Amino acid sequence: SIEIRNVRKTFGDFVALDDVSVSVPTGRLTALLGPSGGGKSTLLRVVAGLEVPDSGEIEIEGRDATNLPARRRNVGFVFQHYAAFKHLSVARNVAFGLEIRRTPKPEIAERVDELLRLVHLESFAHRLPSQLSGGQRQRMALARALAIRPSVLLLDEPFGALDAKVRKELRDWLRRLHDEIPVTTVFVTHDQEEALEVADEIVVVNEGRIEQVGTPDDLYDRPANDFVMGFLGPVT
Ligand code: ATP
Ligand code: MG
Repeated sequence: SIEIRNVRKTFGDFVALDDVSVSVPTGRLTALLGPSGGGKSTLLRVVAGLEVPDSGEIEIEGRDATNLPARRRNVGFVFQHYAAFKHLSVARNVAFGLEIRRTPKPEIAERVDELLRLVHLESFAHRLPSQLSGGQRQRMALARALAIRPSVLLLDEPFGALDAKVRKELRDWLRRLHDEIPVTTVFVTHDQEEALEVADEIVVVNEGRIEQVGTPDDLYDRPANDFVMGFLGPVT
């Protein structure tokens, strides 16, 4: 699980996260949903250890992570615009996290094969990232994030840059992938439909605060306030 307690983060005078507390249970697929500028990425970056909160605590799988550097949090991270190593093959990109951890070579090879099968890229192992489509690149990014067997997977609008059709395919695929390997996952989206369709639980973030936490049904049937009701809007 991820426990976020009383986290505050400012940039100069600007309060990006204002006393945020939320808990994400183990194995759950949770969406951080909210309008642009609301603090979703900042919250994810604080959990990953890429941003230091002014105050508050972060616990990951029962361990206090507040003062741990990112590389010691055992977190897998995927950004909206995926930055691959352009000169390395798909397989080497996926292997990267294992190579820097000095995992034995045969073990790396086996793990990379397994991951590429999982994300349906087994026949693309020797291509360069530039020879993949946008959706394939994001699947490679997911395989790379999963390579280290993270205890939590953090996805910041992983499909944001893709066209609507590919987005929808990948969103369904993420749901199935999560059913297959239920790693505790938090994904950011500003797309209500995406959150309602994919997530077990939704955390609505706005102006640095949590407006509501609940299942898609909770939010839809019992919005906590006018903001949530307005933001979910008329969903068809
Ligand atoms: P989007 O949906 O557009 O990605 P978001 O919910 O992810 O938005 P954040 O990126 O978390 O929003 O930003 C929250 C607020 O904090 C914004 O007003 C942003 O301008 C501000 N902010 C974020 N990072 C920094 C920074 N490094 N320096 C100054 N302000 C920042
Ligand atoms: Mg963001």
